[in-house]
Amino acid sequence: MKTAFLYTENFMKYDLGEGHPLRPARLKKTYEMIKRHNILDFYVEGKPVSVEDLYLAHSKEYVDAVKTGKNLEMYGFGTLDNPFFENIFESSLYYVGASVQCGKYSRAFNISGGLHHAKRDKASGFCVFNDCVILIKKLLEKYRRVAYIDIDVHHGDGVQEAFYTDPQVLFISMHEAGKFLFPGTGDTNEIGIKEGRGTTINVPLAPFTTDDIYLKMFKKIVLPITDDFDPEIIVTQLGVDTHYLDPLSNLCLTLKGYGDVIREMKEISKRWIALGGGGYNLETVPRAWTLAYSIMRGVDLDFTEIYEEESAEVKRYRNSNAKYFADVTYKNLKGEISEYFSI
Ligand SMILES: [Zn+2]
Repeated sequence: MKTAFLYTENFMKYDLGEGHPLRPARLKKTYEMIKRHNILDFYVEGKPVSVEDLYLAHSKEYVDAVKTGKNLEMYGFGTLDNPFFENIFESSLYYVGASVQCGKYSRAFNISGGLHHAKRDKASGFCVFNDCVILIKKLLEKYRRVAYIDIDVHHGDGVQEAFYTDPQVLFISMHEAGKFLFPGTGDTNEIGIKEGRGTTINVPLAPFTTDDIYLKMFKKIVLPITDDFDPEIIVTQLGVDTHYLDPLSNLCLTLKGYGDVIREMKEISKRWIALGGGGYNLETVPRAWTLAYSIMRGVDLDFTEIYEEESAEVKRYRNSNAKYFADVTYKNLKGEISEYFSI
């Protein structure tokens, strides 16, 4: 199956300034690595989203504020995380547009997307508009059941909030627990409300969680629940800030573990849209997303040398608390969702 790869040089304009960790070079380096490995089979030029589509996730007041640059401090801007920058509105339209374009294909990857923290009326965690929410809303015009699986190290709070009452969207987020990391939410007892009760699943993990623990939790929780829910399409947020070299967080995954999770996703997806997300080590991110794209395409690059080097380095991070914490998370989650899913 062809896997669309969305890109445009306009992604480079979403630039939050020197010293900000979300550097647009992450995207360019990925695109170049994919071309270098000769695995780009279906290139799609990214286009800006229509302003109308932004209203699927955001209020008119918020969209107007970003557009005009007025009253921004009321909407989460002007902080270190979310500085206001030149062309913020126009450049944001491109990463959202590429996510919406992905919806036209059965398999597609927008590395510039996955900006999962943006809220209806608020910029947050480097995110201005929530492309994940806008994409899923568009997909719901075609499909009855959409699963969203978020493996970024941070809780996907903006997406959770948008579908907290919606039984048509299964939301699953695996992340470093809120008591250790931004945004502070995503505990096992957040399971949705009203008709959406039971279709929000949170898997908090402890600092120093390694590949083996992570993969086991993915298999024990994400696989059976997604299988039960039986989605027509899967949207995955593939943030790679879970990596042990990431400067902003404390999980200890390697590219081997990351790739293993992507392979599991492939097993459970009929239609599959992948979005980028976090990841702030400039060496790791292009490798991770090149690997992810290669797995989506079914050519699975050989990174054996990198895997071996990383696993030798990560051995010194082994920590028995991470395993214990994961066991407690599993037990708590099982208690919370037993009437909706059996895990
Ligand atoms: Zn993140």
